[in-house]
Amino acid sequence: MTDIRTQRAGGSLAWLDRAACRADPDRMFPPLGDRHALSEAKAVCKTCPVIGLCLRAALAEEGRASARHRYGVRGGCSPYARFRLYQRRASAQTVTQSKEPTR
Ligand code: SF4
Repeated sequence: MTDIRTQRAGGSLAWLDRAACRADPDRMFPPLGDRHALSEAKAVCKTCPVIGLCLRAALAEEGRASARHRYGVRGGCSPYARFRLYQRRASAQTVTQSKEPTR
């Protein structure tokens, strides 16, 4: 886990001590287009006991950022996968809010 992530995550960061990528955080930033390195990084996440917390922190930190402005594998997801997840969640929230009765 990099210092940048640690600084951005906010709140309690105790979960970072249990991160599976802690020993080799650079591995979580595969070069663009290197599918093998991307798969290896995702495989590390699959063994991580804090994958849910990591993904939640990533989505909160990245907010509406485009796929191009998301970096590295976090929470088992590539930057594009996190972007799609963000879009789906935003869309679901819009649907839910539109179904709520108006007062
Ligand atoms: S889910 Fe992946 S990126 Fe997140 S802390 Fe675990 S190993 Fe690191």
